[in-house]
Amino acid sequence: MIAIDDLPPVRGRYRQNVLLAEQTWFRVGGPAEVVFKPEDREDLATFLRHKPSDLPVTILGAASNVIVRDGGLDGVLIKLGRGFNQLAFDEHTELIEAGAACLDINVAEYACEKGMAGLEFLSGIPGAIGGALRMNAGAYGAEMCDVMVEAEALDAQGNAHRLSLEEMGFSYRHCAIPDDWIFTRCWLRAKAGSQEVIRARMQEIAQSRADSQPVRARTGGSTFRNPPGKKAWELIDSAGCRGMMLGKAQVSEKHCNFLLNLLDEQGGATAAELEELGDLVRQKVKDQTGEDLIWEIKRIGKK
Ligand SMILES: Cc1cc2nc3c(=O)[nH]c(=O)nc-3n(C[C@H](O)[C@H](O)[C@H](O)COP(=O)(O)OP(=O)(O)OC[C@H]3O[C@@H](n4cnc5c(N)ncnc54)[C@H](O)[C@@H]3O)c2cc1C
Repeated sequence: MIAIDDLPPVRGRYRQNVLLAEQTWFRVGGPAEVVFKPEDREDLATFLRHKPSDLPVTILGAASNVIVRDGGLDGVLIKLGRGFNQLAFDEHTELIEAGAACLDINVAEYACEKGMAGLEFLSGIPGAIGGALRMNAGAYGAEMCDVMVEAEALDAQGNAHRLSLEEMGFSYRHCAIPDDWIFTRCWLRAKAGSQEVIRARMQEIAQSRADSQPVRARTGGSTFRNPPGKKAWELIDSAGCRGMMLGKAQVSEKHCNFLLNLLDEQGGATAAELEELGDLVRQKVKDQTGEDLIWEIKRIGKK
């Protein structure tokens, strides 16, 4: 058990024993021992530089791609807030600077306001920019690797790095930067376009999602990566898993690569049920199609 007094003095805020179920998209997850909200990049660097060397550190954005297990997280969970929320547009370079805590939708809206096209795909992804960089988030024909020009990150010792597109080593829902580095901001390329066309594209994306995915549900988005040349949902469907349930965890009827927490007044699924249901789906798909599905959703913390 860590005490806040053992952690480096910072300008930001430490909070002890914070229940994460209130903060994750799935609405599951035990407590974080400590949550640290740094004031700004320098404050985060100070923390990283002076923290105990054996302290477990986790970073989360909007927690839209994660199952936090019921036993919670040891050590310190870092949540980036206001100090990482900047949005700026440089008219000369036509680059948009986005802080790591900016929600993807806000970046898409900002680009639209500036009459800059190419970031509409972000409007339907419910994460923040740090998570989008880590996951090479993408949808509707574009992903972060198509628009990112440069990113900034702090390593585990608090040193700042500027990372080019090549250095990011992006691949499908993955980037090659060490897991313990924290993205603080990035610069995105967009091109001048008509606001009307950009807005119409965002509305089209919103409509398409509403038609094909459970929106406003307790979910983590795509549960499994698409195997090369195949669709995870088709494999799940052909293995007979559509609608499968475990407690209050369910494989979505509408989009069967989505897991749902059927939360109601009586309560909802546990993280263990969601993870077990996902593993059951993997087993069934393996038995029936021979394909090994790989989790896209990150599962973190203690069981
Ligand atoms: C309804 C729904 C629809 C979705 N649709 C899509 C989609 O179309 N396309 C798509 O790609 N994804 C989709 N997702 C998944 C998810 O929204 C994306 O992966 C998103 O980019 C995750 O961002 P986040 O801020 O929520 O990250 P989190 O879930 O908080 O974290 C995800 C990973 O990123 C790491 N991370 C977070 N912030 C940082 C940081 N600042 N520095 C370093 N690492 C960090 C975390 O440690 C973790 O490993 C969907 C999810 C939901 C719930």
